Amino acid sequence: MNRDCTYHRPSTLAEAVDYLATKGGETTIIAGGTDVMVDLRAGKLERRNLLDVSRLDELRGIRLEGEKLVVGAAVTLAEIHRSPLLANHAPALQKCARNFASAQIRNKATIGGNVGHCSPCGDTIPPLVIHQAEMVCTGSSGQRRLPITEVATGAYRCQIARDEIITAFVLEPVGADFADFQKIGRRQALAISRMSMAAMLNQDQEGRITMLRLALGACTPTPCRLRLVEEFLLGKKPQPALLMQAGELLAEQMIAITGRRSSIIYKEPAVQGLFRRILSPVACHD
Ligand SMILES: Cc1cc2nc3c(=O)[nH]c(=O)nc-3n(C[C@H](O)[C@H](O)[C@H](O)COP(=O)(O)OP(=O)(O)OC[C@H]3O[C@@H](n4cnc5c(N)ncnc54)[C@H](O)[C@@H]3O)c2cc1C
Repeated sequence: MNRDCTYHRPSTLAEAVDYLATKGGETTIIAGGTDVMVDLRAGKLERRNLLDVSRLDELRGIRLEGEKLVVGAAVTLAEIHRSPLLANHAPALQKCARNFASAQIRNKATIGGNVGHCSPCGDTIPPLVIHQAEMVCTGSSGQRRLPITEVATGAYRCQIARDEIITAFVLEPVGADFADFQKIGRRQALAISRMSMAAMLNQDQEGRITMLRLALGACTPTPCRLRLVEEFLLGKKPQPALLMQAGELLAEQMIAITGRRSSIIYKEPAVQGLFRRILSPVACHD
């Protein structure tokens, strides 16, 4: 670590909030450090007071609270992967943790850090989007909640104030027969997503879609919900020809957001393939 860094590890959330109230402008919060340390070593870290929130009890734990599922910001990807509660109530989030980086990274990387980094490639974000999650932040002026879709204002830009700490994510537990997460990277393992997708779906007895939530990550500046495609498929049977049509609509929605860049030659068919792959287990063939 560079000699001109300071490191502070508070033992309570209140202590951390007090610290940020006075030194927030020159402080970087660190949890697992899997993004922060990369930036520090690359000389890109501007705020060199490090405030370590990884051991704050208030940021830990996965629990059901009434009708909601609460995941602490300092919960690691390894803990998400192992959680029986998430296996039942947020299987797409758990699947994303299973395919996240390597075991060493999963043991350190936190969900709060993944969202706080505001990278368009953050794998936890599409699953959080389909669970209509809210991010809970605590700062000197109290606590506030923000829908996950509003956290990032662009790539690596987010709405977390300098004196705020992400404390938790509040999710709607899964109310669906089917939920999944899929990603495409440059290689099979240890790959940052080039494209990712989360889906949650219910069908009636005839196979017609009665509820669908779809979220796209990594290939748009901020992860987004694919509402046009959801509306197009609602009430219909997901037959292969219909899924082809819906995939084309999805690609159009993506291009409307990103514009036609050179990478579109790859991304246009890739997003359609990813979409058909994620919904293939629920496709109707009658
Ligand atoms: C080899 C390697 C492989 C990787 N593979 C993947 C992958 O497959 N998928 C993927 O999505 N990412 C991947 N990453 C990126 C990284 O591991 C994740 O983004 C991780 O979730 C970050 O969590 P962290 O706890 O390490 O965050 P940190 O590095 O500690 O922090 C990241 C950012 O979030 C902020 N932050 C952290 N916690 C809080 C908080 N509680 N409140 C406010 N702000 C906070 C920090 O200030 C910083 O800006 C990889 C990284 C490496 C080095």
